[in-house]
Amino acid sequence: MANQDAQTRGPVGVIGLGNMGGGMVKALARKGYNVIAYDVSEPARKRASEGSDGVLVVDSLEQVLDRARTVVISLPRPEHVGAVLGENGLLKTSRPATLVIDASTNSPTLTIELGKKLAGQGHALVDAPVSGGARGAAEGTLSIMVGGSDDDIEAAMPILNALGTTVKAIGMSGTGQIAKLVNNVLTAANRVAAGEAFFVGSRAGVPVEDLVTVVNASSGGSRITEKNYPAFVLTGAFNSGMTMGLLEKDISLMLALAEQTGSSVPVLKAVVERWRTLREHHGYDADAMRSTQIADL
Ligand code: NAD
Repeated sequence: MANQDAQTRGPVGVIGLGNMGGGMVKALARKGYNVIAYDVSEPARKRASEGSDGVLVVDSLEQVLDRARTVVISLPRPEHVGAVLGENGLLKTSRPATLVIDASTNSPTLTIELGKKLAGQGHALVDAPVSGGARGAAEGTLSIMVGGSDDDIEAAMPILNALGTTVKAIGMSGTGQIAKLVNNVLTAANRVAAGEAFFVGSRAGVPVEDLVTVVNASSGGSRITEKNYPAFVLTGAFNSGMTMGLLEKDISLMLALAEQTGSSVPVLKAVVERWRTLREHHGYDADAMRSTQIADL
């Protein structure tokens, strides 16, 4: 059945064509949307332009902002989001009302500030961070946590439903990001704890493969041990599509939120500290499942 939203909305912009944005372009095109896409990196632009009907990859940010009234962004860090949406980006020139869907994992405080500035020029910002990895982005099966006004979320909903299978409206601007940071500090904690537990168990004489099987049939299992361990650790592939550096950004934002809210979080602090040590060892661009590899630390 034809996608009526795709026929009436006009081109959808996607900015940031990495592991996540590159897949989102394909998912949107498959659902019938005309996509206009941009990334600062030429290799990323080239990858996004391969094999997708309905996708126009352009070589400047302005071309996307001029032509698309709905724009999805998937950028690494808050400073990149600020560069695209702030005074040197969308806010630079007066443009018709634009609905921005921020699928990056971003600072809730920055989201609220940018949302107010954008609203001052007639635009709308919905925070819609995602979970589900590069595969979920390409398949359109992401889990999406959404913050924004009711009207803006309603306007974004067809696009969110094209990108994900679980779309949860949380509340006002920034609340999607808060939920995402909570999720990510838990996934990070899970990884470092599983890495240490399996390390000790295997040193004491039980192979990691056996330990993974046992905890997955018991109360110690988690999505990390059920899905990520077999796919990315036990195979030695370490190709989950998420980097140590990006997850460190997320858990650092969570720690900032703990400070902002006056919360005492000794365990989360220890997770962030341990993650930093592991990231220094494995490298910023190393796969985030490397956080389970602690043998020589
Ligand atoms: P990535 O590094 O693979 O891709 C980001 C892309 O943004 C890069 O291609 C980069 O060149 C581009 N970029 C940077 N600055 C830009 C700018 N000013 N204008 C245009 N393009 C710019 O990162 P990713 O893994 O795709 O993650 C994107 C966001 O999604 C991050 O905020 C991340 O935390 C979040 N996220 C990632 C995953 C995952 O599994 N990879 C899962 C959930 C959420």
